[in-house]
Amino acid sequence: MLEHGKWIRSGKPAECPVFSRAFSVDKALRSAKLTITAAGVYEAQLNGQRVGDFFLAPGWTTYEKRLQVQEYDVTAMLRSENRLSVTVGSGWFNGTIARQCKPEGVPVLLLAELKMDYTDGTTSCIYTDRNWQTTESAIRYADIYNGETFDAAFEDENPVPAVEQDFPKTQLIPQEGEIVRLHERLKPVRVIHTPAGETVLDFGQEVTGILQLTVNARRGDHITLRTAEMLDRDGNFYIENYREAKSTMQLFCRDGLQTWQPALTYYGFRYIRVEGWPGEPDPQAFTAIAAYSDMRRTGALNCGVQKVNRLFENIVWGQKGNFLDVPTDCPQRNERLGWLGDAEVFINTACYQFDTKKFYTKWLGDVMVEQKPNGSMQDMVPAVFNTPELTTAPAGAAWGDAATVCPWELYRHYGDRSLLESHYDMMVRWVDYITSVTTTPNLWTGYEQKEPRRHHYGDWLGLDAQEGSYVGATDKELIATAYYALSTQLVCKAGRVLGRDVRAYEELYERIRDAFRRTYTEFPTQTACAVALYFDLAADKAAVADQLVRLIHDNGDRLTTGFVGTPYLLYALSQNGHTDVAYTLLLQEKFPSWLYSVNQGATTIWEHWDGRREDGTFWSANMNSFNHYAYGSVAGWVYEEAAGITPCDEEPGFARVRIAPKPDARMGWLTASVDTAHGTIRSEWAYEDGRVRYQIATPVPAEIVINGESHFVEPGVYLF
Ligand code: BGC
Repeated sequence: MLEHGKWIRSGKPAECPVFSRAFSVDKALRSAKLTITAAGVYEAQLNGQRVGDFFLAPGWTTYEKRLQVQEYDVTAMLRSENRLSVTVGSGWFNGTIARQCKPEGVPVLLLAELKMDYTDGTTSCIYTDRNWQTTESAIRYADIYNGETFDAAFEDENPVPAVEQDFPKTQLIPQEGEIVRLHERLKPVRVIHTPAGETVLDFGQEVTGILQLTVNARRGDHITLRTAEMLDRDGNFYIENYREAKSTMQLFCRDGLQTWQPALTYYGFRYIRVEGWPGEPDPQAFTAIAAYSDMRRTGALNCGVQKVNRLFENIVWGQKGNFLDVPTDCPQRNERLGWLGDAEVFINTACYQFDTKKFYTKWLGDVMVEQKPNGSMQDMVPAVFNTPELTTAPAGAAWGDAATVCPWELYRHYGDRSLLESHYDMMVRWVDYITSVTTTPNLWTGYEQKEPRRHHYGDWLGLDAQEGSYVGATDKELIATAYYALSTQLVCKAGRVLGRDVRAYEELYERIRDAFRRTYTEFPTQTACAVALYFDLAADKAAVADQLVRLIHDNGDRLTTGFVGTPYLLYALSQNGHTDVAYTLLLQEKFPSWLYSVNQGATTIWEHWDGRREDGTFWSANMNSFNHYAYGSVAGWVYEEAAGITPCDEEPGFARVRIAPKPDARMGWLTASVDTAHGTIRSEWAYEDGRVRYQIATPVPAEIVINGESHFVEPGVYLF
């Protein structure tokens, strides 16, 4: 792949160089293929026309080890005289997001080949080398966190030759993930003049993507647009929660009517502040365009409570907004990172909502190469904090356990045994790593004491945290040991599927479970109960379930859980005889709850339960994203427990399904559908005159469980 092309850099200082090459085609063409990648993010044009529609190509991977290469069929774009030009920006490669990962002294680079096959059987090839020209782009600045500046009147009339740069090619891989495309286009729903005198557009929906604008201007007009997710309690534009990310668009206009949209960055926003617009901004001049990986929507939920439907929509938007090539924590502040813990808690929901197989396969490819020889995992992948000093700070519980949970969830949802095979080694090495670092055999203890940089995030953002702390009250070592058990159990399950000898891990699992039971006999927090129940570690499940119900009830029928407890909380209840309490939490409107944020006008999922408090103040400026998908994991519960649609471990990928709905009169009705490789599964229930009517459609053999009674059925539609 790309054996002829040389890596080239700009021949002169340029923020976003444009590399170009003119060439003629003087014979009849059969086909032409452009093979291309960049160290940076690129946009290619052939004869002034955009090549392909991959936004922010080549995407984000662990570049030192894996850099994706794209191929485009450009046959129809060629003429006799041609110009190929490619603009490259810093992107994730060496922009501010790259942090310590930036390769020293390497500017943005391009590598490309255009291969032409002629009808007479001959071929020719244009490839990047010193015969290419470089100019400065009208994109004067582009950075993932800080945004883009465009000078519409700028023209560089002094091209200089590109410079060949020594840079490896061994890391090149063919395109593996879904490509990122531009999707929904939204118009502002209102223009706000804030008390502080700002002009602000409200798109009515938080999106991740870019903004397109059309303006009739004069050369010298300078428009500055800044993004926000929220207005503050006084109705003013609020940007503190973006932290250092400037998230700005700047347009220096030329004369006349012009349309512009950023090309080499992205933003997370609902509101846009407009400054410098010539005259009164016309809302019709602005379009927000969502950008995310091109995943097929597979799941749909609908129910009798409108606010819950809004929650479902917010969860879908939360996924769109954080699936821009890498599963990120958030799309707006100076993070936008592939945090493993966030991915671990959300992957199940993500797989119900969209076909994410390709998306996660590519990311897990990076997760695997970032695993250290001793089996430790990075907190985030790509690991932009990966320096010699920081590599000794490996991931702790729940974050590192993405190593086992993510492969297993992909297997459960998509049934691809060969994929599991490729992940198995990572799973085993993660469990072996825990075994090697714990200070007490069969528990996971002493992790933080032993090496100060090692860290458990615990029940991150749990509301029972002490004042000023982000870490919930649940014993970190209880959580860590529970995950040690879970990961060991997943190694056993995966190993059995693959025909491996897992006896040692089965024994280890039993020892961990027994040690957990001996050590942890009290479960003073909701998260401790949820984990002990959902991971099947509690010796007396009924007693722990009662305790959980008591804790919830004593808290005014409300939750206190953070990143670890929240995804399992409703399962722990509904799988232990307390479905009604699970619904109470789902339908709860008082703070803290999912519907509290809906009542506050949320259009995505918030990072923190009280991201915005009832009095309109914000809980923190530092850790307060309004588009953080983690708590959206509740949709997984709705698919699997409320609607009851669960893939079978024995025949994964929905080759067989278990459908065991658990209705609740307060929801009125629920319809859930999942589009699988085998067809669409549907589970619907509705309360009619005090009785429940179920309608279930299955394209595969199924076990349908109604009121505790199993019916083994062939494909078909069934009424109960
Ligand atoms: C991120 C989280 C992440 C965490 C680690 C935060 O700054 O936004 O979602 O998992 O750090 O605890």
